[in-house]
Amino acid sequence: MTDLLSSAFATRVAAARDAFRAGTTKPITWRLRQLTALRRMLLEQGSALEDALASDLGKSPTESQMSEIGVVVGEIDNTIRHLRRWLRPKRVSVPLSVAPAAARVVREPLGVVLVIGPWNYPVQLALVPLAGALAAGNAVLLKPSELAPATSALLARLIPEYLDRSAVAVIEGGVDETTELLTEKFDHIFFTGNARVGRIVAHAAAEHLTPVTLELGGKSPVYVHDDADPAEIADRLVFGKFLNAGQTCVAPDYVLATPETARRLLPHLQDAVSRLYGDDPQASPDYGRIVNDRQFSRLSALLDGVRADIGGTTDKATRYIAPTIVDGVGTDAPLMQEEIFGPILPIVHVSGVDQAIEVISAREKPLALYLFTESRAIVRRFLRDTSSGAFGVSIPAAHLLVPGLPFGGVGESGMGRYHGEFSIDTFSHHKAVLSKPTRPDTLKLIYPPFTARREAL
Ligand code: NAD
Repeated sequence: MTDLLSSAFATRVAAARDAFRAGTTKPITWRLRQLTALRRMLLEQGSALEDALASDLGKSPTESQMSEIGVVVGEIDNTIRHLRRWLRPKRVSVPLSVAPAAARVVREPLGVVLVIGPWNYPVQLALVPLAGALAAGNAVLLKPSELAPATSALLARLIPEYLDRSAVAVIEGGVDETTELLTEKFDHIFFTGNARVGRIVAHAAAEHLTPVTLELGGKSPVYVHDDADPAEIADRLVFGKFLNAGQTCVAPDYVLATPETARRLLPHLQDAVSRLYGDDPQASPDYGRIVNDRQFSRLSALLDGVRADIGGTTDKATRYIAPTIVDGVGTDAPLMQEEIFGPILPIVHVSGVDQAIEVISAREKPLALYLFTESRAIVRRFLRDTSSGAFGVSIPAAHLLVPGLPFGGVGESGMGRYHGEFSIDTFSHHKAVLSKPTRPDTLKLIYPPFTARREAL
């Protein structure tokens, strides 16, 4: 089995490499054609993609359009609009010691890129990296997550129909297949998933000295300061947290607030849950489900013995977990040990800004940090004294919709970045090009013998 897999994968990688070496993927016209075809696929196959996402994650069609399909279309549109400018060689000045000369930075495609996708946004997090790697002129192998099987199967069927099969392939499979695939040599590996698997990918990549981008997760905190108006912020918090039933890498993981602010916030959060998902969220067509039984059991266990202030109910048969908020959680409670990655929001009491920064800084660097305050001084303080992949003031999770912003983590939440021009940077080699006329030969001034010159001085 392993031998068969291994030779099948070797053949796929070799075919992609042949296409790259033949120069297929380099012309900008080819890149733009692939991006346009991918865009067409998303529009023509929108309802098939919505069905697959509903089957995998119970996503509503509107949510699928907004947070998956629409995000990829937006990225592609922005890339098509700016690609020629982004790819233009960047001239840089030369120091006097090298002048006269012309220096520029040329972005060169890397070769064959492996993209490994996760299950929580199985369209967006497979296709935005794919689009970036193609725009940078690479051949690509895409391995979608086996935990979103309907989406994985659909992408495996559609992508060869729309994109150049010689240079783009989808490989389906789980741990065994990915482990085997990772023994192949790639020119870049782009992985989205958890940090444990991120380490496995980094190890495998090190064998070939392959550069990696690791888009990981972590516990993204929210600090709600006393000056924030609970009526104004509740909808944003609830929407950012419970989108995709909390299975979002940049979702708020926990809230820090003083006991008094938490007490004022809770009724507004309850109202917001009812406004967005009705009095019975289980009946709402807009509220998602937990991806599989394993995740459901993990999340249910986190609720064992916990008294929820909002929600708290579960239904194993449909893998439903109500939008749940628990006030007054201790920093050593089970809910504060690992990334929750589900619809449970603990509120941890702190005495104010100083202690909030202390709690955040005592933990691994998160993928995002969100702050609700009217005070610019507090914003500046958090910006200076905390580190996170992204930083949102009064708005969780929406930074990924701004293509001019890099998307990525820092420390335990990942390495590298993408979106917009950052994707081109990630999937390109920045080649230093220096060109110096042979006449006049100014280099004569620095040739040996050095002793003769020193004596002349
Ligand atoms: P995962 O790490 O389990 O799976 C991701 C991919 O890795 C899948 O394609 C899977 O087949 C593969 N994989 C799993 N085990 C493997 C192994 N042992 N060897 C090789 N490949 C393996 O992803 P997940 O845990 O299901 O996703 C959730 C995590 O991903 C969370 O931590 C979340 O925060 C993070 N995440 C991050 C981002 C981001 O953009 N930074 C986005 C989504 C999810």
